[in-house]
Amino acid sequence: MAAKNRPFVIALEEHYWDADVAKTFGSGEARDPALRQRLDDLGALRIGEMDEAGIDVQVISHGAPSTQRLDAATAVPLAKRANDRLHEAVRAHPERFAGFAALPTADPKAAADELERAVAKLGFKGAMVHGPTNGVFFDDKRFWPIFERAQALDVPLYIHPSSPVQAVTDAYYKDYLKDFPQLLTAAWGYTVETATHGIRMILSGAFDRYPGLKMILGHLGESLPFSAWRINMALSRGADKPSAFRDTFCEHFWITTSGNFSTPALMCCIMEMGVDRILFSVDYPFVPNPPGTKWMADLPLSLEDRTKILSGNTKRLLRM
Ligand code: MN
Repeated sequence: MAAKNRPFVIALEEHYWDADVAKTFGSGEARDPALRQRLDDLGALRIGEMDEAGIDVQVISHGAPSTQRLDAATAVPLAKRANDRLHEAVRAHPERFAGFAALPTADPKAAADELERAVAKLGFKGAMVHGPTNGVFFDDKRFWPIFERAQALDVPLYIHPSSPVQAVTDAYYKDYLKDFPQLLTAAWGYTVETATHGIRMILSGAFDRYPGLKMILGHLGESLPFSAWRINMALSRGADKPSAFRDTFCEHFWITTSGNFSTPALMCCIMEMGVDRILFSVDYPFVPNPPGTKWMADLPLSLEDRTKILSGNTKRLLRM
């Protein structure tokens, strides 16, 4: 492990692939052999690259689309097996790894039960959901049993991007995908899809029903901190009372720095949400570790605020 003359560092949007879950993805994903090697590794290669960048702990989650595009009969046993295998990897390196569960969201009751099993029996810190479940956004009432269980367990649910639904892809992006395939994913499509997911969660009333429900968004909040004032203003127009959108966002969401090492964007997030809501992450192995920790070290922040972002806020939220 790196020298200790620095704040403790926890990163929490760090991915791997379970071999059996990855078999369901099709051949188009992770064609780069170096990337695939890192997704498949839960041992020496991963820990060596954490040490090289000064990352003490990774909270590990499956990569997109995880189990969100599977039918219930497939997803329920597969998510269980994948979570059990991730648990074994965490048990082998308990000082370096923790886990977010994969959930079989196609069967919401089973997903709530699996969340409870993963947290209570396996020691997982919450769960990650990758985009809509077979086209249905997470705010749909069928998924609320998962929110109820997350609230009861007091663990966060992390909404991670996945590719836009086909109708959106066709209408918004297809003209440019030949030359710029990233437009559909990390360059823009992921952001729109996941920001929409966050907005829909707030509009659904789920946080009125579950006032203890905690959500995490990556990529500096998928642009929502920048947009929250305007969304709130527009939703308030012509309404009986001002919208609670902005307050609800700042009360129920935490955001991570995964794959978005922009100092001006971070400053906007701190001003909108407060520094206590920002959690350091990299998005390994899709993003390499060293630029993330280097960026944090060079930020114009006090040591106290930097330490909150690097691990203090996460320790509190995930009770680590
Ligand atoms: Mn990610």
